[in-house]
Amino acid sequence: MAGVRSKRTKFIFVTGGVASSLGKGLCAASMGALLESRGLNIGFQKLDPYLNVDPGTMNPTQHGEVFVTDDGAETDLDLGHYERFVSHRMSRHSNYTSGQIYEEVIRRERRGDYLGQTVQVIPHVTNQIKDCIHKAADGLDLLIVEIGGTVGDIESLPFLEAIRQIRLEVGRDNSVFVHLTLLPYLATAGEVKTKPTQHSVMKMREIGIQPDLLVCRCDRPVTEDVREKLAMFTNVQLDAVIPAKDEDTIYKVPLALHEAGLDDRLCELLNIWSREPDLSKWERIVRILEHPDRRVRIAMVGKYVDLAESYKSLSEALTHGGLPHNALVEIAYVDAEEVETRGAQELLQGYAGLIVPGGFGERGTAGKIESIRFARERKVPFLGICLGMQMAVIEFARNVADIPTAGSAEFDPHAADRVIDIMPDQKQVSLKGGTMRLGAYACVLVPGTAAQRIYSRERISERHRHRYEVNNAYREVLTEAGLVLSGFSPDSTLVEMIELPTEVHPFFLGCQFHPEFRSRPTAPHPLFAAYIGAAIDYLREKA
Ligand code: GLN
Repeated sequence: MAGVRSKRTKFIFVTGGVASSLGKGLCAASMGALLESRGLNIGFQKLDPYLNVDPGTMNPTQHGEVFVTDDGAETDLDLGHYERFVSHRMSRHSNYTSGQIYEEVIRRERRGDYLGQTVQVIPHVTNQIKDCIHKAADGLDLLIVEIGGTVGDIESLPFLEAIRQIRLEVGRDNSVFVHLTLLPYLATAGEVKTKPTQHSVMKMREIGIQPDLLVCRCDRPVTEDVREKLAMFTNVQLDAVIPAKDEDTIYKVPLALHEAGLDDRLCELLNIWSREPDLSKWERIVRILEHPDRRVRIAMVGKYVDLAESYKSLSEALTHGGLPHNALVEIAYVDAEEVETRGAQELLQGYAGLIVPGGFGERGTAGKIESIRFARERKVPFLGICLGMQMAVIEFARNVADIPTAGSAEFDPHAADRVIDIMPDQKQVSLKGGTMRLGAYACVLVPGTAAQRIYSRERISERHRHRYEVNNAYREVLTEAGLVLSGFSPDSTLVEMIELPTEVHPFFLGCQFHPEFRSRPTAPHPLFAAYIGAAIDYLREKA
């Protein structure tokens, strides 16, 4: 039996069938948004069947962005969706992988906690999973648990077994199984097919889970007779077969699922008596995105450009930044290595702004530096994030402060002028085994700077994920050459933000942290809102 029990929390368990990439995270996030707007206190958890103990080390081209929580956990990008859709903040209890679960079970076995028992998947691994779920549920009205992977995968079985047991323990009124599936359209038959969904539900029933509600992804409207057929063969109530047509913007999904009756059904199934949801915030967002007053094209110069998923939070934050200006932001992903061969002039003409995002490794950095020079000299609004800020410092050092050999210790630990380096305090951190500065840290903004004006506060908190810092030995030369250091760690030992004075450049700003992790459509981040504002001004002046 699981050790911690959350007494009053209700659970929604979301599983996926038929195919991966159906948008389970988005479906779960939308569910959360709808139920939160009915006044419930919602939390999320994602359980991932892969064996990596540290999702932070996975290749972004394979798995999309690494999302960072306030408490410094490196998690799956779905947690970013959750945070953008509800007000609850995720933590390290919000994401567990099979690797983390097994690591803990094996650690306990080594410690002798199981007192000579045979340690098994059931009950030891499943109990560990249940403990993690109950820990995340603490204090919430409702916890939405998304099980990664697709039903039928060997890896996800222990998770499914654990949620089957939780249903048995907490009862029907306190738990709902939502199954997300795909209804493919076969052109040759001219029909939407239900068979894959039937099979996927069969697979669920085989392991003892009868879904209570189906969300059916389809590229076209789902007819009544298809819904009836699904209800009949999957043993799900007709009104709990919810169609989910493809939407062109993710922020339409909560509205569409509400239209289809999703939150009403969930409240019925969970015996929750609540007010009608207030969806006006979401309606406003969709209205702007569908009928913007203006369009703003931004170039993002990065390395994983072929995969928009690698910069998910950042591209969302840019979209949010457009909302206060009734603007639709269009992002062009520009390959930094292509800038090296074809030149900034050719590739970056015609954009209203330039962004250089975070990243790791040397590949593409020459192209990023060249792009930043272009933005600085042509006075194109520029925002540099993490590695992007480090590149801006290097560019400034080389081309303005007259330090031609300026570089980063990340690419050459013995370079002559490491304007970006590991600071002594951070060396201590890496000796203790933690190699990166991760999670939320406070930052103090310098009065009178653009940064301080944009945030309109003096102390902020933002999330970090990096090893290297601006080298304090170069603070003075850089400042003398005209770079403004506009944000510092509270003890002043670390540079957190840099900028050019507004007399020199309309918007040139870099931050060592990742502001994109804190932005939401319902509360756009001030840095992105100000940046898009500057991009609009730039367009206006050029016109
Ligand atoms: N690679 C850089 C560092 O470790 C920047 C990291 C990032 O952009 N997230 O400091």
